[in-house]
Amino acid sequence: MITPRQHRDVAPRARKVRILATLGPASSTPEMIERLFKAGADAFRINMSHGAQAEKVELIKSIRALEKSLGRPTTILADLQGPKLRVGKFSDGAARLETGQKFILDRDPSPGSGKRVCLPHKEIFEALEVGARLLLDDGKLVLRVERMSETKITTHVEVGGMLSDNKGLNVPDVVVPMAALTEKDLSDLSFALEQGVDWIALSFVQRPEDLADARRLIGGKAALLAKIEKPAALARLEEIIELADAVMVARGDLGVELPPEAVPPAQKRIVETARRFGRPVVVATQMLESMIKAPTPTRAEVSDVATAIYDGADAVMLSAESAAGDWPIESVAMMDRIAINVESDPAYAARVHFTETRPDPTTADALSEAAFDIVRTVSAKCIICFTESGSTARRIARERPLVPILVLTPKLATARRLGLLWGVHAVSTRDVSSFEEMVAKSKRMALRHGIAGGGDRVIMMAGVPFGTPGSTNVLHVVRLTGQELKGR
Ligand code: PEP
Repeated sequence: MITPRQHRDVAPRARKVRILATLGPASSTPEMIERLFKAGADAFRINMSHGAQAEKVELIKSIRALEKSLGRPTTILADLQGPKLRVGKFSDGAARLETGQKFILDRDPSPGSGKRVCLPHKEIFEALEVGARLLLDDGKLVLRVERMSETKITTHVEVGGMLSDNKGLNVPDVVVPMAALTEKDLSDLSFALEQGVDWIALSFVQRPEDLADARRLIGGKAALLAKIEKPAALARLEEIIELADAVMVARGDLGVELPPEAVPPAQKRIVETARRFGRPVVVATQMLESMIKAPTPTRAEVSDVATAIYDGADAVMLSAESAAGDWPIESVAMMDRIAINVESDPAYAARVHFTETRPDPTTADALSEAAFDIVRTVSAKCIICFTESGSTARRIARERPLVPILVLTPKLATARRLGLLWGVHAVSTRDVSSFEEMVAKSKRMALRHGIAGGGDRVIMMAGVPFGTPGSTNVLHVVRLTGQELKGR
């Protein structure tokens, strides 16, 4: 456990939105991970699609060592590859498909040519229908199904080009009857859970049942994030969000399966729905894409990151920019600067509160809404939340109060999971057992973390009797004298 004393010098970030940085070859040493954290990365994504499990052990060790030395809970998300479809190999490594020609996908494992290639996914042959589109190599080539049998799909090439070995295939028009977890995912999942990661991201979610299966396997050892990257998932968005602990707008594959111009409305809808349900939402992919090669982003990229922040996303994500680019630290620092600028815009409050988050008829929501109002009425400096599971913190964050949410939890696992949440500064610390202790501890922690000073009001939320999960029923406002740390 990280002791309270280790937290003494750790102030919250100067922004509410979180930064999720993907680790990879450009950022895998302990020094780079520390520099990324110092530049502003709040959480780290480990992409299970690339590299061996042994490499991930080292990354996870480095992140936990950093956590210990900083005395601050740090969040790790393991992103499973999911059922990514791929074509087989070609005898020459690649073949040119001409627009207008016929092209066949079959079950024959022998190397392909300009006329045919193997498609090693039996399920596709059962699911496709005449007229459906097949998108190859991130949508660069487009085929349309003309005829189908159990072993052969005859297509018309609508957009041709070079197709090389093992290129990806997307089938946006059908729900593919494939399990959300492949053999590789099952192995990566049990590895990630053994390593104690905090979040598991599930790729290519199509149906709510996909989440139920994953949750059963995870068994409470990590929280579950659903990547929204298929039109089928958009069609059942509310059900999926309700079953997930968080969602990601995975714009890479979403922008292959949907026309690019359909991605911004989908992004708005996913962010808005997740916020209504009180599930953290991450906006991902190509946010600062040009920074893979250049030290500064394009104006359009800056505007894209800013838009996600104005919309109230919980986190913005870096992919290749931090994992494999030439400027990983600069990319994180750029996101940090964009966020600080957006959040200090006087128009930010109105924009972030544009999404209406009506309370559910629960005590936790009634108190969260009241805390939000009290912050504004008496200019309180922070909301301090005592929680075991983190559920109260999620309901407060859902209100988007414009002051820090200081979460005090006896569970390090809870503190780590909260690292994806908007505005939350989580501390793992000993529990309190009385009302007086709660008040005294809140005051000390607010001062120690530099969130409030003498004369400031702070709000606290907790459940009495203490230590009973799900019992949030106390809202208390106190004024600090500034003397609370003296003599301790
Ligand atoms: C995406 O498709 O946007 C995404 C985040 O997934 P991946 O990086 O695993 O392709």
